[in-house]
Amino acid sequence: MGMPVSELHKFVFEGLPVRGAIVRLTDAWQEVLRRRAANSATGAYPVPVQTMLGEMLAAATLMRSSIKFDGALILQIFGDGPVPVVVAEVGPDLGLRGAATVKGPVPSDGNIDSLVNLNGHGRCAITLDPRTRQPGQQAYQGVVPLADASHVKFTRVSEMLAHYMLQSEQLETCVVLAANEHLAAGLLIQRLPGQGMGNLSGSMVERVGDGDEVEDAYDRIAMLASSLKQEELLTLDVDTIVRRLFWQEAVQRFEPQTGVLGPHFACSCSRERVARMILGMGQAEANAILIERGNIEVNCEFCAAQYRFDAVDAAQVFTKAGQLAPGSSTPH
Ligand SMILES: [Zn+2]
Repeated sequence: MGMPVSELHKFVFEGLPVRGAIVRLTDAWQEVLRRRAANSATGAYPVPVQTMLGEMLAAATLMRSSIKFDGALILQIFGDGPVPVVVAEVGPDLGLRGAATVKGPVPSDGNIDSLVNLNGHGRCAITLDPRTRQPGQQAYQGVVPLADASHVKFTRVSEMLAHYMLQSEQLETCVVLAANEHLAAGLLIQRLPGQGMGNLSGSMVERVGDGDEVEDAYDRIAMLASSLKQEELLTLDVDTIVRRLFWQEAVQRFEPQTGVLGPHFACSCSRERVARMILGMGQAEANAILIERGNIEVNCEFCAAQYRFDAVDAAQVFTKAGQLAPGSSTPH
């Protein structure tokens, strides 16, 4: 039996302003972990960090799949704990990558609160980075604290995300997330955005139906969804989950996305990007590193690829840049 393939399933509730999706990251998630474990500079993630990153990747995939946008969605949390940054990035073709920075001891019961948001200054940011950017165009970014309005700190990625979607996008969302070393999975239920609502919603969807019954539908379905236990999400197949939770609802399912059309591991790093980074640091700093270490070495934190520029390579980076017309910007 081959390795299970990552899958994304989307569905709607007929006649109701509610949509849903379930993601199961298997091979894509295992590739993230395998590359990290193979990185001799870092070693494998401690289990609580693995859980947090897996849940963030599942969440980012669910969110990326719910918007119409040609670019990457980057879900990021940062703070002043022993894990200062966790990043999950999903491209328009569902290519995904993720990484966490570990800077201190990680307690076995660590969560967002103790690992990232230690002193309450932590933030969650969601960035929409367009694939092609017009001159002067900024990436869209929404940022919220890692605590609710009463300053109660979040412990789970799912709480944080539901809060973000409501606070920043005015979208009611229910999320169940879970991850272990084999699987990162998530269930998302969302009230469809009304017209003019939400920045992440992309194309606006008109509300369908009317009346109290339709208005209450989201609450009912979200309550059913939130009854799903993490253990069930990690062990049951998608058909079983949908049947068990929503057997009384008229669920319309779409063709599952798997393989190249589904979530898959992909890193967007390249030698050209590293060259632009070296260019960005400037010739004086590049030379200082070359004198000190002989090479400029950059390891990709997402895929563990190693890029090495010696003095000749680095000189070429600056020579090429010098040949560009004055005032022309370097392409991104
Ligand atoms: Zn990479």
